[in-house]
Amino acid sequence: MSQPAARADQHDTLARLTPIATGTVAALAYEQLRALILSGEMAAGARLSQLDLAERLQISRTPVREALRRLTGEGLVDALPQRGFRVADLGLDAVMRRLEVRRLLEPGIARLAAERASATDLAAMREAVRAERAARDGEAAHDASRAFHMALARSTQNTELVITLESKWIIEVGRRLLSRRAVEPDWQERDVAEHGAIVEAVQAGDGELAERLMRDHVNEAVGHWNPIARHDGAGALVQVSRRE
Ligand SMILES: [Zn+2]
Repeated sequence: MSQPAARADQHDTLARLTPIATGTVAALAYEQLRALILSGEMAAGARLSQLDLAERLQISRTPVREALRRLTGEGLVDALPQRGFRVADLGLDAVMRRLEVRRLLEPGIARLAAERASATDLAAMREAVRAERAARDGEAAHDASRAFHMALARSTQNTELVITLESKWIIEVGRRLLSRRAVEPDWQERDVAEHGAIVEAVQAGDGELAERLMRDHVNEAVGHWNPIARHDGAGALVQVSRRE
């Protein structure tokens, strides 16, 4: 008689268990791996074995793979065809290659934005410009600056462009670069003014002007970092963040 009752109790108890999503485990693995890569403890080029990582983290390989894919999307990890994953190179020369992609991509984004931006998009861009103007430290200025570029990309209504740009602009790398650049007293003011001019061109629907302003804007950044990249050689990210 008591047997079925006990089973029923156990059933009720089990019903109270909430499933642990593999996504949660993957997110925890992602956070740990990301921290090690960004701190430089996992060196550029180091192989990331799914088996070793799964063993070390004491989780199955599925969430490990998910974490690695997410890091690949962010550009922190390279996926090697048929050969697994390795830590991506985040040195200044790698940053220059990303900047080159932005130089080709963003003028086109600005032109499309001028054709497609909605009132909501324009408001998001203005808010980012306002936040950058109000920023009191390099980190806040960088994040607002990035928010502006992403808002512009979103206003093309093309998520592929947003994803591509996002993967070329890793927040932590940008912050470190800017901490080095923020020693230029008028950098922030100039950046805010250039962003503001792009918003005006987009709002006016002037694609040609928006494109030209963005080209000048990214060229300026390339012109700034190019000689430094040459001077540093294949400088590691740690060296990039060092202030002279
Ligand atoms: Zn900018």
